[in-house]
Amino acid sequence: GDQLLREVGLRLRQCVRNGDTVSRVGGDEFIVLCPGCQSMEDAALLAEKVLQSLGQPYQLADKQLVVTASIGIALYPDNGTDANTLIGNADSAMYLAKEHARNNCQFYSPELNQRNLERLQLEQHLHQALDHREFVLFFQPKVSATSGALIGAEVLMRWKDPEVGLVLPGRFIPLAEETGLIQPLSDWLLEETCAHLARWRRLGLPPLPRSINLSRRQLQSSGFVDRLLSTLARYDLSPSALELELNEQMLSPDFTHQCAVLTQLHEAGFRLTIDDFGTGFSNLNGLRHLPLSALKIHQSFVHELGSEPTALAVIDAIIALAHALGIETIAEGVETAAQRAILQRHGCDGMQGYLVATPMDETQFLHWQREYDTPQG
Ligand code: C2E
Ligand code: MG
Ligand code: MG
Repeated sequence: GDQLLREVGLRLRQCVRNGDTVSRVGGDEFIVLCPGCQSMEDAALLAEKVLQSLGQPYQLADKQLVVTASIGIALYPDNGTDANTLIGNADSAMYLAKEHARNNCQFYSPELNQRNLERLQLEQHLHQALDHREFVLFFQPKVSATSGALIGAEVLMRWKDPEVGLVLPGRFIPLAEETGLIQPLSDWLLEETCAHLARWRRLGLPPLPRSINLSRRQLQSSGFVDRLLSTLARYDLSPSALELELNEQMLSPDFTHQCAVLTQLHEAGFRLTIDDFGTGFSNLNGLRHLPLSALKIHQSFVHELGSEPTALAVIDAIIALAHALGIETIAEGVETAAQRAILQRHGCDGMQGYLVATPMDETQFLHWQREYDTPQG
């Protein structure tokens, strides 16, 4: 690490002119101060040169490394007249660059500040929401595509904001992931799911596996498997009560490590499912080594059934792949009887979607479960 940082510093110094300043502010962040830069064009040219230079492979000891950089640019005096403001604004622009794609540069703009402010407020709200226990679990049934029998339910998180009402995870999970809040949130979700399962068992309801969605952070955090097992044990539940959903993106870049964690989970008795399959550049070579139970077909393919012939081609291929590997397929987002009919005909094993039921809170779900008659066909 030290060697790499030194080499980066060296390359940065080669990119700038006399009178410019290169400094490292900590971790892997550097600041380049260029008093001679006269315009946006000047700054863009320099940034391009820096990206070029840093993008060349590094030869460290016996290893060759490739790293990418993200650059944020703030200009004096338009984007600030003191050091703190300029650095803060360059920092915001850098985060935007990171979001785009690696290896690019972005200029600061005042709208960025507005966006950051909103994110900051959302982050504060999320903290409070955790303290005030404003999160609730929703459940969406999974059924067999052939018999219609109930085979499980997915646990989906909702935020009951007292002012806004129900907030969907798309609004807060990505930020929670970025800020690390996903960790306490996921711990809470696991605890709460187990509490539900134990309650339902006391009510004498038949055991039905629940799927929970994992986040990348959980999979990477040390001791995750032990924590999972000890939480289940506290409620006297076995791992077969839980199915774990993870998406393809979560498996890269450290596939070997993730694979080891998944094997450990599998050996402990959990069912493992790949969520949103087909949307994340599947590593098929990796896939065949994973101890999986099912692939979930992303809803975008299901929604285009009947209008886009390529959608059915992809679904067919996913089903064939899954079955060849000896695992099941679950179609997500099934909304119409026509979609169900095609999926059944093409050998899909399970289904989930508004056609069967929308995600429901506990009371609604228990009511739905009592009323649910196995539909024919
Ligand atoms: P996902 O796991 O792929 O969940 C499926 C999403 O599709 C859910 O959105 C569900 O409400 C929605 N859906 C189900 N049936 C239909 C349908 O027929 N049509 C349409 N258009 N949509 C349908 P939701 O609840 O907004 O969750 C979005 C994503 O947020 C989830 O995608 C999951 O990745 C993530 N998420 C939800 N809860 C958690 C959680 O507790 N932890 C983590 N890490 N992620 C979660
Ligand atoms: Mg899911
Ligand atoms: Mg999904």
